[in-house]
Amino acid sequence: MNLQRPAMHKRQLSSSSFAEAFDAARQKLNQLELDVETPGSVDNMSDPGSLVTDSGPTSSLASPITNPITPALDPDVADDFAFAFDIDGVLVRGGDAIPEAVEAMKVLNGENEYGIRIPYIFLTNGGGKFETERCRDLSKQLEIDVSPGQFICGHTPMRELSDKYRGTVLVVGGEGEKCRQVAESYGFRDVITPGDIIKANSATAPFRKLTDAEHTASRDLLAEGKYSKLSDVVVDAVFVFADSRDWASDLQIIIDVAMSEGGRLETRSEHSDQGPPIYFSHNDVVWSAAHEHVRLGMGALRRIVEVVFEQCTGGKQLTTHAFGKPQVGTFEFATRLLQQWRAAQHGLTTTKPPSTVYFVGDTPESDIRGTNAMDAKTPDTNWYSILVKTGVYQDGTEPAYKPRATVPNVLDAVNYGIEREMVRRAAKGAGKMLMLDEVAKKAVAVPEINVYGDDYIVAE
Ligand SMILES: [Mg+2]
Repeated sequence: MNLQRPAMHKRQLSSSSFAEAFDAARQKLNQLELDVETPGSVDNMSDPGSLVTDSGPTSSLASPITNPITPALDPDVADDFAFAFDIDGVLVRGGDAIPEAVEAMKVLNGENEYGIRIPYIFLTNGGGKFETERCRDLSKQLEIDVSPGQFICGHTPMRELSDKYRGTVLVVGGEGEKCRQVAESYGFRDVITPGDIIKANSATAPFRKLTDAEHTASRDLLAEGKYSKLSDVVVDAVFVFADSRDWASDLQIIIDVAMSEGGRLETRSEHSDQGPPIYFSHNDVVWSAAHEHVRLGMGALRRIVEVVFEQCTGGKQLTTHAFGKPQVGTFEFATRLLQQWRAAQHGLTTTKPPSTVYFVGDTPESDIRGTNAMDAKTPDTNWYSILVKTGVYQDGTEPAYKPRATVPNVLDAVNYGIEREMVRRAAKGAGKMLMLDEVAKKAVAVPEINVYGDDYIVAE
């Protein structure tokens, strides 16, 4: 009964079959002596609350990657469950890996007592770089190879809108010219930035002076031959790709466009109701950075834009759109990515989805809310939310959206998920009924793990 946490190096990338792993799990279950019949109500933990509905056209998102090369089936791969991770506050904080994250990745890649490898993807609201660059950063931080085929950031789904908005789009946020470049790589044809507008008319933002480098890098809209004055420029849509580096001037320019005649720069519509759509790549008001307290994020700018618009227009409401977690469309995008990744990386070509996806996050309002909402919507897969204490969520507080489990850190989350699967498999094979979450918690033997209410009853 005195089980230790899984030995990390006991079996590294064993060539044994997954069936052997189940045998090991069954033995463990017998050791635990917890296979008692404990029937009880399976209450519904998956109430998603009322999700915001202005999620943009995410339902039409196409497949994240194309033409995956399908390798032979990996005999050690877990075919029935998978993990998905938020990044900031879970794996990385202030540019450095959270210490347990490196170990957690090793466990997923086979350094666990069952010798199995578990498919996983990353789903972050952050952005501001090419996906390939962010994967390179993450590879270094976590000491593994992270592929763009297993990675979604806040603005990844915006790729799908480049065919919808074929004219000029205003892209806001991020370092230097990076987000313009990312938007162009997504297929947007004519991308302008706040810097281009300030370069053309420095009175746009009275207290913002472009640096020499910014001035040089910004487009010279009036010298390109296409426009003779700024009011010739018509913005079809505004995309806030990444966090603003200058909230005052970005706010001014977004409000200007929102109040314009059909997106035409430097104009005002009579009723302030002709502005183009405004998209934010996510809606997180705060996020976990290097500072001891959480920092303001893009969701805060979104609120400010809406409030200031109302103030400037005598009470008109501005509807903006947000991608990212907790939007269910983003989780559906992640589901397709995971399916392709399981095939491309592990040879799991079956159309049967994993029965459980463990989502590990630090922000109840986006990670947990979205996972629970996805769980409520998806009949074939249990999306199981795990909240860690290394980021936004503060231990001892009541999370606004309740996870299925809270754990100290991402390594505990991974070990807990693996044990939960192994115990479930073993119980099924043995025809047992048990309180699955409680048994898994005991198997991991970390006292700080809390599971809530919805113990899974397994019966043959
Ligand atoms: Mg986070």
